[in-house]
Parts: sequence; structure tokens; C-alpha cells
Amino acid sequence: MHFAKGVTCLVLLVLGVRAAPGTKRPVSISGEASTAKQPKPLAESPQPSRPKLLPKPNSLVGKLTVIDGSCRPTTARFVQVEQALSDAYDIVEVGQRINSEDTAFTNYFVLNTPSAKKVVQAEEEEDDKAKLRSAVLASSPERKPEKLVPNMATSIVTGGGTNKQIHVRCPTPEVCGTSNRVAFVRPDEAAINLCEGFFARNPVSHAWKPFNLDASGYGWCRPPYLLTNFLTRAEIILHEMTHIKLIASHALALSGLAEGEKFDASKPVANQWFAQDIYDHADENDANNKDTYDVPWVAARTLAQRWIAYIAHLAKPEKAKAPLNPPPFGTADNAESYATAFIEYFFYVKCKAFKFDPKKITL
Ligand SMILES: [Zn+2]
Repeated sequence: MHFAKGVTCLVLLVLGVRAAPGTKRPVSISGEASTAKQPKPLAESPQPSRPKLLPKPNSLVGKLTVIDGSCRPTTARFVQVEQALSDAYDIVEVGQRINSEDTAFTNYFVLNTPSAKKVVQAEEEEDDKAKLRSAVLASSPERKPEKLVPNMATSIVTGGGTNKQIHVRCPTPEVCGTSNRVAFVRPDEAAINLCEGFFARNPVSHAWKPFNLDASGYGWCRPPYLLTNFLTRAEIILHEMTHIKLIASHALALSGLAEGEKFDASKPVANQWFAQDIYDHADENDANNKDTYDVPWVAARTLAQRWIAYIAHLAKPEKAKAPLNPPPFGTADNAESYATAFIEYFFYVKCKAFKFDPKKITL
């Protein structure tokens, strides 16, 4: 999570802008150019041109979002925003059925991680943003991914349980701050701000290609399954949604309901919470290493692997232990983990009939 100076609690996603060779990696909001290595280029896959007749967008776009006039300097741009939102809702409609045994889940989430509260308290609170992040993490009930992940999908498709509309805006480059910024939200607002980096991303939509093994290699279900091929702009929308308190807190509230208990929309949500960003965190075992949690979707998988290693480490006899720190926070607190898990699960469900092997989705 990055914070802009003078703005309280600004959550950003700075990703996916693949600089041309020799150019700099996207800079973070703090203005520090990262020296971390470039993400791997997208694997070549047949990129379809946009169909002339687009399928109708998911009806939840009209119901649960308001696309601001700032996103309509041209109809083409408006359609791009609408398409990404439509894809995102398609993905989470399916994502409500994800469970903790699905590969898409286990790639990103680890059950029974030690309490995030404990981990956060151990963190050095060097400035206000760290304090704020720590306060949000520490004051919320434990996040159990087996409940929280499907409930996050449910919260997104129900506008945080109350059909509240998310405002989607396209601020000016001045407001966005850096040319490489993709999107940002302020967790207290039910709004997503899309920046130039969003429009610079590959515009492919899952609505553009058939879910089959089309002999030309055109269909979505044909191997090789490279994660980056499945990351449409919906990834950005889904990632940002989890930073919005309205959405994330409702998912958390649903996860705390007793068996058979129904959510009561007339009562205020007791615990306010939103997901964080692991990417750009330093390695928990090497403060100088910024490569471990670098590219958001890679970092999301790494976070899960780090927790698995840490839990195995805790189980070792005392004598056999090398120094190993817990990752900065639990997998259920990382925004990108939700976005990528939902996307992997979506393509798995859509391609199941074609022997699509979710274990073969590689980075
Ligand atoms: Zn983020």
C-alpha cells in the first residue's frame, strides 16, 4: 500500500505497466524508482482484435457501479471501463463457489496462519501509514481465508451486502500522480479511480475469446496456461475492490456469521477492514531485499509459499531452527491474492470440460 502525501489512507495499485526494454520500471507513489527486476514479459498468445459486436455487459455493472463522466472522454474509453467491470463481475459471480481445496485457492491462501494481530504488533511502526495499516489489521477479527475468499466475491456482487454503487472515476494525470499509476482507492470511499496505467494494460477481455480448444490456438482453454495471459483489466478492478472498506468489511462480517445466521443489513458493520498490498514490502528475512515481493501477482503466490515455509519452520524442533521471520501479514490480508485466485478459478471453471489442469497455471 502506498500513501500519497497529504492524502489519508490512499491505497494504490501500481502494476502491470510493462516498460519497453531499457526504460524504467513503474515508480511507486513515494517517487522512488524501484531497482527491482522487470516482470517477465507476457507470453506471446494470439491476441484477438476486439469483436465488432460486443456482448452485453454483465447486468451488475449498471446495478452496482456508476461510471463517471471523466471516463467518457470518448465512447471507446467508456467501453473499456465498462468491459473491465463486466469481466470483474463475471469472474466473482463464479468466484463465490471457490473453496479451500481448489488449486486457485491454495496457490494464494494458507489456512491457520498465525494471528495477523500478533504479526502486526511485532512490526516496527515507523510512520503514520504503518500505524494506520497496523491499526486496521490489528483491530479486525482474525481473517479466515476459507470463509473470507468466497465471501469477498459475494460482497462484490452484492455491493457490500446493500447494493451500494461503486463510483468509477478516471482522474486527470495530475490527480493520479505518476504516469505509471494504474488505479487507486481511498478505503473509506465506495469508489475506484482508474489512471492512465489502467488504459495502458492489455485490453483483452475474456468475452473476446471462446472458452474452448479452438484449433487455431485462439480459445482460452488451450495450454500452455500462463497466468499473465489470464490477467485482464478485471484483475485491477477486483484488486481495488478488496481495498474498499464497504466491500471488505462486509466480506469479513459474512465470515463471522454463525451457521444459519443471516446478515442483517439494518445494523452497522462492526469491524471495518480492508485488504493490504504485500507487493513492495521488503523481504521479512532481509530488509534490503525488495525483489521477493515485487510484481503483484508473483508476490501473492510468494506470500503463500512463505507462510507454508514459516509454519513448517514453527513445527521443527527448537535446535533445528534457523532464524526465520513470519511474513508481514496473512494471505487473507493481501488484495492481489483475491484478484488472482478469482481469475484462476474462473478460467478453471470455464475450461474444466476441456481437461484444463489448474495446477499447470504457471507464472
Ligand atoms: Zn493495492
